[in-house]
Amino acid sequence: MTEAEWLACEEPTQLLNYLRTSAPLPVRKMRLVYCAACRDIWDELTDPRYRRAVEVAELFADGLASDEERAAAWDAVATNGASLFDPLRKATMLTAARHMAAPNCLYYLSQPRDGHDANQLRARTRVRFVALIRDIFGNPFRPVAFDPAWRTSDAVALARAMYDSRNFGAMPILADALQDAGCDNEQVLNHCRDANHVHVRGCWVCDLVLNKN
Ligand SMILES: [Zn+2]
Repeated sequence: MTEAEWLACEEPTQLLNYLRTSAPLPVRKMRLVYCAACRDIWDELTDPRYRRAVEVAELFADGLASDEERAAAWDAVATNGASLFDPLRKATMLTAARHMAAPNCLYYLSQPRDGHDANQLRARTRVRFVALIRDIFGNPFRPVAFDPAWRTSDAVALARAMYDSRNFGAMPILADALQDAGCDNEQVLNHCRDANHVHVRGCWVCDLVLNKN
């Protein structure tokens, strides 16, 4: 895949396949892509066990939950949730909780649900998933050499607050803070300032500021 093909690609599985084959895939970021997809249907996750599975998966991604906690959250969904939740949500939560069979998550998310047109849902899921992948992994053809001097206390505090709250409304302010620190990288500044960009936990710019990968 060329950079032009990457930028034009609208198929999430092709993007993920390229990422998998081009470099060792950061497992944390893969987990966060699927957690973000689950957060998109948060209102539909009325069973607390499913929400717990996503929350534990996010904590696990950052090394803040043990494998036992992750396994327990997975078991709660796998063994107890069947009668309370339909297969779509169950499968999605299972994927988030254990991050296995990752491509299946996309399939399940795009399956018909009550009140949704199946084709529209698939199209919307694809578009959204592509946006999540691009936010979390950035452009693999243009890795940014992030200067540690840009990691000022202001920039780190802003990125940390957005990461913790999952509210990324301060991205333009982060751009200002990075610029104040001497950052002149257009990719970084544009990603923060372009209102069309989606930002979720694992956003490649916030991760660089927080020194996460
Ligand atoms: Zn972002």
